[in-house]
Amino acid sequence: MVNVRSFVFSPFSENTYVLSDETGEAVVIDPGCYTQAEKEELRNYIQSSGLTVKAILLTHAHLDHVFGAAYVARTFGVEIYMHPLEKPILADFETRCKLWNIPGCEPVEAQHYLEEGDIFSFGNTVLSIVHVPGHAPGHVAFICEPERWVVSGDCLFYRSIGRTDLPMGDYDTLIRSIRTKLFPLPDDYTVYAGHMQPTTIGEEKKLNPFLQS
Ligand SMILES: [Zn+2]
Repeated sequence: MVNVRSFVFSPFSENTYVLSDETGEAVVIDPGCYTQAEKEELRNYIQSSGLTVKAILLTHAHLDHVFGAAYVARTFGVEIYMHPLEKPILADFETRCKLWNIPGCEPVEAQHYLEEGDIFSFGNTVLSIVHVPGHAPGHVAFICEPERWVVSGDCLFYRSIGRTDLPMGDYDTLIRSIRTKLFPLPDDYTVYAGHMQPTTIGEEKKLNPFLQS
């Protein structure tokens, strides 16, 4: 059984997820902790739960999803996995922090790459990787079939979708990603998004204003 623990971090209200299972192994998805208090909150949760962090997984490399990546990597001695098409986005992290006037951003580097069709395992848990570009070029979602959920990042939200006006975003590509990669999942799958509350595939098929027709 996978425990999905979410945190809401930074002025961007970004959802950071810690996934762990009965083995005590864990991964951190999109560590967006920015302030010292947020970093300590995440660390305290991991340490007090007795978890062993195995990796950092990124749905994509926008700044609000990687504010805490260098901190988590250093604190737990783990490496970062993302899709190779996020390289230019991650390389731009410090520049964009300056642009947004956000001080204290530590450079982040990925060591491993994930592509469509890959699986990522930790403990007894297996995640399938699907490539869902549109919000960002190398955006991926993490699907846990036995537990019937998907971590969708900034692709699909509760009654909304990711913005596509950022560099390398594309609206039609995003809609196609959702329709061809996420909507084929069964209706009862929970969607853990990069912002806002969880939803389900079935609810978004029926009620998401961007995906009617
Ligand atoms: Zn984003």
